[in-house]
Amino acid sequence: MKRIAVFPGSFDPFTVGHQNIVLRAMLMFDEIIVAIGENSQKKYMLSLEKRKAIIADAFKGVEQVKVESYSGLTVDYCNAEEAKFILRGLRNSRDLDFEQPIAQLNKKLDDSIETVFLVNAPEFSAINSSIVREIYLNGGDVSDFLPNGIKLEE
Ligand code: ADP
Repeated sequence: MKRIAVFPGSFDPFTVGHQNIVLRAMLMFDEIIVAIGENSQKKYMLSLEKRKAIIADAFKGVEQVKVESYSGLTVDYCNAEEAKFILRGLRNSRDLDFEQPIAQLNKKLDDSIETVFLVNAPEFSAINSSIVREIYLNGGDVSDFLPNGIKLEE
């Protein structure tokens, strides 16, 4: 059976930190679906199309990595995609505190799906999407934080 992992997130925007998690997970899974969660209650800086385009560009020509979007429960989406793993990155203990109950509840919702955490490489610890948004909205250069130095302008 193909080992498929879903990497869910807002990815507003997808950063080099996210990219590093996917690159390392490629050694563990046959296929990784970077799945942009669409939550109608949440406001995003970038359109879904733009968020998808950044990720597609980061993994251009890499068949093992796909980009999709979904709404609803992550475990339902995993089942629809026949994925048995949810991939998440951990930067620090705050991430762990946030992630632990989500992973435990997902396990309760579907015992057949495992959440797998990768501890991030230290050079990416300080990178998070909300700080990248803040810098960008204030006119700063965020290209060092984005895959392939991609520009956020449409
Ligand atoms: P969410 O809105 O679900 O928190 P994010 O897009 O912020 O989604 O992040 C998705 C996943 O990527 C989370 O598991 C998060 O911990 C992880 N992540 C975010 N930034 C980094 C980083 N710099 N290094 C490693 N993992 C990261």
